[in-house]
Amino acid sequence: VWGSMGAARSSFEAAVEYAKSREQFGRPIGGFQLTQAKLADMAVELHKGILLAHHLGRRMDAGRLRPEQVSFGKLNNVREAIEICRTARTILGANGISLEYPVMRHATNLESVLTYEGTVEMHQLVLGKALTGLDAFR
Ligand SMILES: Cc1cc2nc3c(=O)[nH]c(=O)nc-3n(C[C@H](O)[C@H](O)[C@H](O)COP(=O)(O)OP(=O)(O)OC[C@H]3O[C@@H](n4cnc5c(N)ncnc54)[C@H](O)[C@@H]3O)c2cc1C
Repeated sequence: VWGSMGAARSSFEAAVEYAKSREQFGRPIGGFQLTQAKLADMAVELHKGILLAHHLGRRMDAGRLRPEQVSFGKLNNVREAIEICRTARTILGANGISLEYPVMRHATNLESVLTYEGTVEMHQLVLGKALTGLDAFR
């Protein structure tokens, strides 16, 4: 839950820096509204994910963390971190696929994280069972 947010933060920060320095049509691409919309949406999801991780950590410290809440956090944060990396990649243009920048490395690593420690589907099933009381695993 936390680790995915670290990867997302690194990619977000790389995108912000790139947007401020890369110039097209005579000005930084960060000055275009579409780029700012991407950065705004990335910031919203990044900070929602960090707040969620904080919240789950506090529940764990208090001994009140439930398994389905772990699923909630892992599912959301990894999925959104991948989306943040994907958006960051677009802001970096062709440089987004280069290992000179951290974005693609985080994106590929997060694809592994999507599978280990519970696949997306398993966490959806955990949440589905918690919501309905019905077990759809098998
Ligand atoms: C980089 C990496 C590191 C790993 N590290 C570890 C480790 O340290 N320790 C460890 O024990 N394991 C580790 N794993 C293994 C990982 O936990 C498993 O790959 C993961 O649990 C999925 O199992 P599987 O690959 O056999 O896929 P499968 O179980 O074959 O699943 C394939 C697909 O089918 C879906 N699926 C399966 N059953 C259902 C169902 N009932 N309903 C709906 N969809 C279903 C899955 O969600 C998945 O999308 C690691 C994996 C990776 C990629």
